[in-house]
Amino acid sequence: MLGIALTMLKEKGETLVRFFDDLQEAMVVLINLIMKLAPYGVAALVAAVIGQSGWSVLKALLVYTVTVLIGLSLHAILVYGGIVKLIVKAPLKEFFKAIRPAQLLAFSTSSSSAALPVSMECAEKNIKMSKEVASFVLPLGSTVNMDGTALYQGVAAVFIAQVFGLDLSIGDQLSIVLAATMASIGAAGVPGAGIVTLALVLTTSGIPQVGLALILGMDRLLDMFRTAVNVTGDLSVATVMAKLEGEELLTGDEEDAFVDPEESAPEPTDA
Ligand code: ASP
Repeated sequence: MLGIALTMLKEKGETLVRFFDDLQEAMVVLINLIMKLAPYGVAALVAAVIGQSGWSVLKALLVYTVTVLIGLSLHAILVYGGIVKLIVKAPLKEFFKAIRPAQLLAFSTSSSSAALPVSMECAEKNIKMSKEVASFVLPLGSTVNMDGTALYQGVAAVFIAQVFGLDLSIGDQLSIVLAATMASIGAAGVPGAGIVTLALVLTTSGIPQVGLALILGMDRLLDMFRTAVNVTGDLSVATVMAKLEGEELLTGDEEDAFVDPEESAPEPTDA
């Protein structure tokens, strides 16, 4: 509401707008400083947990990581692959090849927002959907659709509850599903947003927030994978929407196809 009022004030509100701009920049500097200290803090927290509970916690952490990775792979292949195959009726190999540059960028930056321009290129030039669909669905998806994040938050919440020996009823599990879905919608498309909103999921489900420290060490790695799944979701849904709009997709016309900047080697040709 304050933002709306400041916009209505025009020049009169400029000082306050500049104040918030500067405050935001100061916050970014502050967060960067905190992030420099974070690895040592995390190491200390994990050392304390291992000291109290023994090495079994590390083994459990490994099982947690593998569970998230298996869940993400199944979601990307079965759910997203499934809807593309079923509705778009396109060969999955071609679809995944078309979106690979966006997936790689999402993986390396851990940010759906950073990957957005490349997602748009992939959608328009490789999948051949119209600009109208791409520029409506993809920006919306990059902030709202984060299934990879929701999936990871669900597994993380159950893992932390198990570490603390909490017995989760079906009702508790449903509340985790609901809270994780809402929290993933609320998460921004930037690195580490998922673990911040995970705190909300834990609070809603009555799971101790200190458990976050346990999984913090693995977060960067899992962030890369879940962001790639988030972007895969955005592109899958955009492709389905374009198909429902009656567009001709994945026509295989390579002439003006988007070239992956990372990929300098030329594609082998059949000729
Ligand atoms: N990094 C994720 C994204 O940008 C959000 C998260 O789960 O932290 O999609």
